[in-house]
Parts: sequence; C-alpha cells; structure tokens
Amino acid sequence: MRRLAVGLLMAGLVVTLTAALASGAEARTAKKRKHAPPPPNSIAWSQVSGPSFGPAQSIGGYAAGCITGAQPLAGEGTGYQVIRMSRQRYYGHPELIDYLKDFGRKVAAAGLGSALVGDMGQARGGPMSFGHASHQMGLDADVWLRLDLPPMGRNAREGVSEVKYVDYDRVRVNADWSDRQAQLIRIAAADPRVARIFVNPAIKVAMCRHPWPNRDFLHKLRPWYGHDGHMHIRLHCPAGSPQCEDQKDAPDGDGCGGELTSWLGSVYPLVEKHEGKPQPRYVNMPAACRAVLRAGGTRVAAVDGLAPGDASPGKTVR
Ligand SMILES: [Zn+2]
Repeated sequence: MRRLAVGLLMAGLVVTLTAALASGAEARTAKKRKHAPPPPNSIAWSQVSGPSFGPAQSIGGYAAGCITGAQPLAGEGTGYQVIRMSRQRYYGHPELIDYLKDFGRKVAAAGLGSALVGDMGQARGGPMSFGHASHQMGLDADVWLRLDLPPMGRNAREGVSEVKYVDYDRVRVNADWSDRQAQLIRIAAADPRVARIFVNPAIKVAMCRHPWPNRDFLHKLRPWYGHDGHMHIRLHCPAGSPQCEDQKDAPDGDGCGGELTSWLGSVYPLVEKHEGKPQPRYVNMPAACRAVLRAGGTRVAAVDGLAPGDASPGKTVR
C-alpha cells in the first residue's frame, strides 16, 4: 500500500514536472507568436458560411455570446469606410449597423472626413481566432481615431496602419492628438444606444480636460488597456434580444476623478493590451449558441473590389 502510494506520488511528480516544462515551453513560444493561441472552437465560428436566418438576436454576453440574423455593414457610406474587410468581421446586430451609419453621417456633418471602422463581429458572432476577447454578439465595434485618410479603395484599406495617440512616458496624449479625435469620440459616445466606449486612460484624461458644454457623455468613456489608436464602442442590449446579458451601466459621474487617477498610477497596465489574451469566459457561452453555429444561413460571397491574395489572417470564406 505504501509502495503504491509512493509510486503514485512519483507518477504525480513526473506529470507535474512534464506539465511545468511543457507550459514553460508554451510560454516561450507564445511570446514569439504575434497573436495568442486561438480559443477553443473559434475556428468554427470564423468559418461559418454567413449569418444564420431568422430575426436578429444577440445571445449571451459581450465576451461569450453569439448572434442570429446579423447583417453586414456596407463597406463604405457617408462619413465612414470599413478597413481590412478581408477579415470578414463587418457583421453586427441591425442596431449596430444603424448606429454606425448614423455615426458616419454625424462625422461627415461635423467636417471630420471619413472614419475608419475596424473589427465589428463575425457573421454569427462567437469567439475570434485572434484579436479580441469580446465582440461576440454583434454589439461591439472598433473605430480608429485617425481622420487623415481620404476615402480609399478596398485594397488600400487592407494595409492602413493605426496611429497611436498616447505618450506612455508622460501618460498623456501625444502631439498627434487634436480636437478632431476628441470630437469623434464625443459623437460616438453621445448616442443613447451606446453603453460604454473603451479608451486608453491617457485619452480619457484628455477628454476630461476638454471644456465640453455638456459633459453627460463622459461617464461612458471607460479607461482600459491599449485602445490608444482606436475606440471600442459597445452598445446596450437591443430590444427583442431576451437572452442578451447587458453589463451594469457605467458608474454615474464623469469618471474623471479617483478611478481614473488609479489607472494613471501605473504606466505598465496602460501599455498592456487586453485584446488577444485567452478568453476565460468562453466556457460560459450559452447553450443556445451551439444551435446558432449549426443553423442554416446565407452564404458569404467574395468581398467586391478586394483583390484575391490580400487576405489577412482569419480570412476563411470568400
Ligand atoms: Zn475592440
């Protein structure tokens, strides 16, 4: 009995040691990789043929959910253009589509040129094989902050680079930041459909210092890691989506006080990106989403005006 116990203990040690060595090796390769390893089953979600049929419904949570009846955002419209369309992440709940079109019209009316719409969600939402922990139920969209690019062809939009607006040494916005970025964020946040917008803490500081006549929108700007070249817009759960789990509202007040100061105390977390990290909430994906993954749906055609071979990683359906 005792020998068995010792044997088991030894076997346990070997397993632990092997696991430790393996995870060490994994950590080293993970460091070399540009993107974190894809979360389980994310490939299936990025390979769906298109949105599922049926009425639009966001199901689950922002970081563990899916969507039925999603719609694509047109690649270009008044005041906006979608970038990196080869990723096929330009889907969302119709409320998000309407919101972004309205946003574009306000951007154009304010003389801000053409906003660059980045990743929204996949055709049926769900986890992505790289890039985001959330964006899973068609209610999140990234909009870049640079406003210096004219309307471009779809191929040119594949290769645009992000301009960063944060000086991490001084923990404030850098010389590229201007009122135009501030106006863009205000326009995005003032819409009542928006629940919160994630921006870098240094950007929140700049927004707090701006002499806005109406500061009501400021509480929706939530300081978060990264987000130094784009804002991450998140809408409330829309009507008609009973299985959509809204987050608690952003706290009252403008959020320019103590909470923000606590972010500014440490430079390192401001640099760290939350996006691309493993997605612990994945396991909490609602059971209803399994049916969404298997359901019948529309086929996705090639993206018009995009040359073959220009695809970014993650492109799976033409
Ligand atoms: Zn985002």
